[in-house]
Amino acid sequence: MKAEVSRRSWLKAAGVLVASAAFMPVSAVFASKKPQNFRAQGLKLWQEFNHFPAETAVLKAKLNANENPFGPSEMVQQAIQKSIKLGNRYAFGELGVLRELLAQKEGVKPEQILIGAGSTEMLEKIAVTLFKEEGEVISASPAYMSLIGTSIAVGAEWKPVKLQDNFSHDLDAMQAAINSATKLVYICNPNNPTGSITDPVKLRSFCDTVSEKVPVFVDEAYLDYLPADQQISMVDAVRKGKKVIVARTFSKINGMAGLRVGYIVAHVDLIAAVKADFFAEISLNPLSVQAAIAALADEPFRELTRKEASEAREFTYGVLKSLNITWVPSHTSFVIFPLESDGKKFMEAMTGLGVGIRIFNFWDKEWCRVSMGTKEEMNLFASSLRRVLA
Ligand code: PLP
Repeated sequence: MKAEVSRRSWLKAAGVLVASAAFMPVSAVFASKKPQNFRAQGLKLWQEFNHFPAETAVLKAKLNANENPFGPSEMVQQAIQKSIKLGNRYAFGELGVLRELLAQKEGVKPEQILIGAGSTEMLEKIAVTLFKEEGEVISASPAYMSLIGTSIAVGAEWKPVKLQDNFSHDLDAMQAAINSATKLVYICNPNNPTGSITDPVKLRSFCDTVSEKVPVFVDEAYLDYLPADQQISMVDAVRKGKKVIVARTFSKINGMAGLRVGYIVAHVDLIAAVKADFFAEISLNPLSVQAAIAALADEPFRELTRKEASEAREFTYGVLKSLNITWVPSHTSFVIFPLESDGKKFMEAMTGLGVGIRIFNFWDKEWCRVSMGTKEEMNLFASSLRRVLA
């Protein structure tokens, strides 16, 4: 019963329940009692939702998956072109180079880095490794659901802890929720889907203390969107030998979502535990790894993306303000705002005008999350929003 509630909450929090209603009877989602089947059902819904309706043909502004419209950079494209002939080989050699570079960047030993085909692979592998024998996972609500979804699918119990009114993590409540069954605390900072941040000083102290009891997973997919002097990573807890896992991705600021490279920096025991369960890193291809190596050296591209995202956020706030709509101040490549109208109808109307957005349902409200696109895309978002809400 408890697990059933968690599953339903997961779908609701992920916005899948609302958005998918048109494609599949909701009862089908709950037809199976097996957690494994639940994950498969969730993915099916997600795919249907993502392709709604024949998205690539219809969308002029694809603002529904927090992709970076400016990438991949010229340097990355050139690296891929140069590596094309490596397609007949596994990426073992290139992975060694990338791992070494990442270890230098993060100030850790190479054996504390594990590279995945996107950070999703690492989120899910950690979930399987830690929860294959059940246990409890704590996260915020709402949160990014990849790790939680897989944890539930392999039998974990999810304990959501509501974000505070200022949309930061309620670290005290999260700490209080830990019990003997807890195997992981997941924190996404800045958080998706809210775009909000949690005070890094408080988070650091949380990581130091809590990781003495259970591992803490900090997902920093959007940290690069903060100004350089505010990008305070929790990797220093890993450096101190704490049981902390930090996930980073090349999908966002580096504009490489389709190239699929991400990684974790973690305590060696946690890396070893994942490696004991999986043939880790075999999913990477040499072209993408060469692309990631090139991206590491391309700071000007990251600066460009940061600037464009910041301008797009300010533009979005201005549009929302002119329509008397509130929003959550964002530190990321997306902005979320509450909807007064029906979410599904709103999404259909926006899609009809060529604008892809995501609908979420949490705290008894529907919300629209819009990714930051090019200036043309943001203009189309603004004019479409005005038309749909008129
Ligand atoms: N973590 C967060 C918070 C995200 O928003 C995303 C993607 O949207 C990911 C991880 C996964 O990204 P990827 O698998 O492309 O690295």
